[in-house]
Amino acid sequence: MIAAIDVGGTKIAGGLVAPDGTLHHRVEHPTRARATDPAEVFLTVAEVVAELAADPRWARVDRLGVGSAGPVDIVKGTVSPVNISAWRGFPLAAEIRALPQVAGAPVALGGDAVAMTAAEHWRGAARGYANALCLVVSTGVGAGLVLDGRVYSGPTGNAGHLGHITVDLDGEPCPCGSRGCLERVASGTAIAAWALDQGWRPGGDGATGLAPNAASVAESARAGDPIALAAFDRAARALAAGIAATATLVELDVAVLGGGVLRAGELLLAPLRRHLGSYATLPFTRHLAVRAAELGTDAGLIGAAALALD
Ligand SMILES: [Zn+2]
Repeated sequence: MIAAIDVGGTKIAGGLVAPDGTLHHRVEHPTRARATDPAEVFLTVAEVVAELAADPRWARVDRLGVGSAGPVDIVKGTVSPVNISAWRGFPLAAEIRALPQVAGAPVALGGDAVAMTAAEHWRGAARGYANALCLVVSTGVGAGLVLDGRVYSGPTGNAGHLGHITVDLDGEPCPCGSRGCLERVASGTAIAAWALDQGWRPGGDGATGLAPNAASVAESARAGDPIALAAFDRAARALAAGIAATATLVELDVAVLGGGVLRAGELLLAPLRRHLGSYATLPFTRHLAVRAAELGTDAGLIGAAALALD
């Protein structure tokens, strides 16, 4: 049995995963993302581990896998999640290993997008493919790579970080320091911001006071709103350019897309496949399949377990 932990800016989840990839037990707590003391943020991880350890199956746990919002450094075992400001170079792997219930058992650490990639390759939409790019399109854009049948995480665990490749040479500055990053065009946040800038206004639940998001743009797009449709087309085009560049670079068999924005389904995938035809043009890139992720919110935990087994 593998204990899996998924650390995000909104929630910290834990689960017990069998060697066949079945998730048996899941617990979840909100992240104390606004805490200024690193130890206070870690308290939630300790609570999640304590709840998992109360399950009788914990006795069979011999290793842990941890997926975390990045950047991560898998050599040092540290994490610096953009949305958890108290953690900068936080020694997450060592802190977990030191918990009394863990008692020094091995802890494998990886980035959340790499974990999602490992999960989709093990049990989901990338299963059976030797060369895959898996993307998480939500408030940001994350991605990971499978090359020659194995998850490729790079020297520090950040390989495949497609959200921060430039798709627009003179585009908006990005908090990463570059400009025109894919994330600035294709994330859920970017889709809603661009639509608002073009004059789109949310209908229906727009009066609830919730910030407009990609889901409300999708609702308008389904009703035929031309700006909302153009916002998804623009995001799809940027994703297609990024996927095509990756396919040209390393020869991909499949691109798998997951994350909250993919709830829009074919609103994003149909234009993405169409634009891919314009960008993935060399013969060795043309057979590339585009698939929706299959594991949903469990991908983080199943992937963390996959990293521990690898
Ligand atoms: Zn960037």
